[in-house]
Amino acid sequence: MKKNTTPHQSQAFIPAGIDEPILLESNSSSKVETMHLNYPENAKIGYAIVGLGHLTLNQILPAMKECKKSKISALVSGSLEKLRKTGEMYDIPESAQYLYEEFEQISENKNIDAVFIVLPNSKHKEFTLRSAIAKKHVLCEKPMAINSQECQEMIDACKAAAVKLMIAYRIQYEPYNHYVRQEIEEHSIGTVKFIQTHNGQPSHQPEHWRYIKDLAGGGALFDIGIYCLNTMRFLLDSEPLEVYAHQYSNPLDPSFQEIEEMVNWQMKFPDDIIVQCSTSYQIHTSRKYEIYGDGGWMILDDAYSYEGQKLIISKPEENLLKKEIKISPVNQFTQEIDYFSECILNDTEPYTSGEVGLQDLMIMEAIYESAQTNEPISLSHRLPKSIKRGNKPEIKLQEK
Ligand code: NAD
Repeated sequence: MKKNTTPHQSQAFIPAGIDEPILLESNSSSKVETMHLNYPENAKIGYAIVGLGHLTLNQILPAMKECKKSKISALVSGSLEKLRKTGEMYDIPESAQYLYEEFEQISENKNIDAVFIVLPNSKHKEFTLRSAIAKKHVLCEKPMAINSQECQEMIDACKAAAVKLMIAYRIQYEPYNHYVRQEIEEHSIGTVKFIQTHNGQPSHQPEHWRYIKDLAGGGALFDIGIYCLNTMRFLLDSEPLEVYAHQYSNPLDPSFQEIEEMVNWQMKFPDDIIVQCSTSYQIHTSRKYEIYGDGGWMILDDAYSYEGQKLIISKPEENLLKKEIKISPVNQFTQEIDYFSECILNDTEPYTSGEVGLQDLMIMEAIYESAQTNEPISLSHRLPKSIKRGNKPEIKLQEK
């Protein structure tokens, strides 16, 4: 395989001036916040995991056991029973198990460097603000919050407290998606002209928080359509200039009284690239994209899944009608969490920063507006000219 095989995050951790405090500026006043980054070599960042739901129990906690730079230091939940059972499974002492109302006590626990917020979307802002007050770094699940104002408050709070904020966009820590981005950058399929992507799954639980607008913020777009939006921004390394959308909900289905069932939207990117996206809670599970260039195409099946990505490339001029590219899979959650830990250890800005999460919310708000007005919405005056973010993670691309 011609791709470089740079080891993932191979840079050894070398703290700058190990005995000296590092000065970080606060935006709230002229006061300078001081954070001591005296992490010993081979240190692991300790996380308090907030919310013991499906994602935490099935993906995040098992993935954390594989992490090289991260460890589980505490658990936070609304249920004492869940805390005790999960604590026993992962060897977390009762003294590091907190109910939501006890959350402020984490400020006293020196084993906790960061908080991973894995709660319903409406709770992301509250726990980010509480984490910032406790002076703990924040890794927050997607979508960042239920609207763009909340995202801005989260960014401001973390900046004022001099703690880092990263949004858990795991796709940007997954090797197949990195391979595709590299192919696009190298014009391997010529000039990209058109992309088609969708993320859909059958879902029907009207009682669940995902179907209550105040808790979820939105429907299929907020929950799964966001992968299409965020991944396209990542692959093209640019921001959409315009959106045009349609949305639909079956009026007879009790699940879709508050949130939408499906959204179909088009985005115009720079260089006249058109991206067609769709998301639905009422189709058989399908998570893929197709990228068409004037010199070939790439199709990534299961692009947004936890595993099982399948990449097919066609380049007629190289007589390559269809070739499957196989890359060794990795645990996306492990990569993502360790990347954030490296940002804390090295005092660098995360790539999927709060500003990146805010931008998704602003674009999703424009998508809903377009669907409502039936008009295309220009984004050029709505989005910031540049986004604050750190270096792209280096992901190992190893041929299988
Ligand atoms: P879940 O419903 O399985 O778990 C949510 C947890 O929050 C539960 O333990 C629940 O008890 C608790 N909770 C606290 N306050 C609540 C309230 N007011 N109402 C309902 N539950 C409340 O959800 P999940 O699938 O684990 O999703 C959690 C977060 O993770 C969401 O933001 C979701 O978008 C995100 N997520 C991300 C991925 C990914 O691949 N990155 C996948 C799934 C979910």
